[in-house]
Amino acid sequence: MKTPRYLYFLMGLFLYANGLYAQTTIKNRDAIIESAVNSISVDTMKALIQDMVGFHNRNNLSSMTHPTQGIGAATEYLYRRVNTYIPASGGRLSVEKEFYTIGGAETRLKREVPLCNVIATVQGSNPDDDRVIVLLAHFDNRNGNGNDSIGYAPGANDNGSGVACLMEIIRLLSQVDLPVTLKIMFLSGEEHGLYGAQHMAEMARRENWNLIAVVNNDMIGNGPASETDTHNNTLLRVFSENIPLTETDEMRRERVYNSAENDSPSRQLARYIKETGERYVDNITVKLIYRNDRFGRGGDHTPFSRKGYAAVRICEMHENYNRTHQYARSENGVEYGDEIEGIDFEYLRKNTGVNLSAVANLALAPSAPVNVRQEVSELTNYSTLHWEAPKQGKKPAGYYILIRETDQSQWQMKIRINGTEAHLPYSKDNYFFAVQSIDAEGHESLAVFARGK
Ligand SMILES: [Zn+2]
Repeated sequence: MKTPRYLYFLMGLFLYANGLYAQTTIKNRDAIIESAVNSISVDTMKALIQDMVGFHNRNNLSSMTHPTQGIGAATEYLYRRVNTYIPASGGRLSVEKEFYTIGGAETRLKREVPLCNVIATVQGSNPDDDRVIVLLAHFDNRNGNGNDSIGYAPGANDNGSGVACLMEIIRLLSQVDLPVTLKIMFLSGEEHGLYGAQHMAEMARRENWNLIAVVNNDMIGNGPASETDTHNNTLLRVFSENIPLTETDEMRRERVYNSAENDSPSRQLARYIKETGERYVDNITVKLIYRNDRFGRGGDHTPFSRKGYAAVRICEMHENYNRTHQYARSENGVEYGDEIEGIDFEYLRKNTGVNLSAVANLALAPSAPVNVRQEVSELTNYSTLHWEAPKQGKKPAGYYILIRETDQSQWQMKIRINGTEAHLPYSKDNYFFAVQSIDAEGHESLAVFARGK
């Protein structure tokens, strides 16, 4: 019997559709990073959050001197906790207290309030590489009244979850040889206006740190959402600014010329976290949120993005407003207050893994390529890109050209190139391009968007 024509047509359609849409994702995992991700301990994080809740109140106006209650006791605890990881770190790990004051007689606070950030440093092993990666989590908190310095304020998720994530990263990555320095910051002052982060961002600028990425973790463990009761522990948000807050007129002209409104350095960092986080952590999808932060609410990455650094906020997919900034109480069968029972620890474990793998992969990668340009003056259906090798750190073993269609969020294709030039049969008008440096094991730098010249 003769095969009807429509069957050939359907077969063709099937193959066509598969060619276009069926993609195999290859997850090449570095054994060192994989082992660190697998060593993240729910028990350790749970114990730390219990201890943080035990300080009763960590309001910025609470006691700095009481031995067991208030923000001073919490500061001391975090400092001592980091110290316990120093002996096993082979000299890599150190910790400092960074004091500063907020308020003053003329301000809303009516007095000067002394505060302290706790800064852990995992020193990079390459003396020719001055890159710094910063991780942030605030440890101050509040209940239903922002200035209640005595009443119970557990702050388990906001932001015991972020603190637990960073402490696990200190514990695990201080034992790994990384060429790049990590600065892991436990910040106070957030709930009264991002003061602790502001203090550190100013220091980074003043001391001219070669700061390549800032990752803020604030509320990363909540279970069900309030109102909708939505619970999905396979989705995580990364907020990143569209257009840099620090954009100058010249930057604006260049952005418009290149149609680069979806390619800020912070957006490249967000894409990087998605790619590397999903590579190492199973059952998690990182959602890129195209905003610097949520409506009406800020985070500690913002003082850094305002200074021009690539800075993002990692945050749970669904928030619970019955818990955040509430007095702990039971009302009409609803539990209010930021208690530890609200945390989904499997979710927190996975989200910590996303942080850890992104930071470790970036710290192991060579510096990003510089002066990445594409030729746009000729009428051609090819694209030609040029770039230069980074000046410092280990020499790249090669580069990836990243390609995506102009209406796509994520890079769709990676092409390995050995030199510092690429000539590709993809029209410059139909695609966006970027370049990453890679080492012999495939650790990628951040992507640098190719601008037309
Ligand atoms: Zn918070």
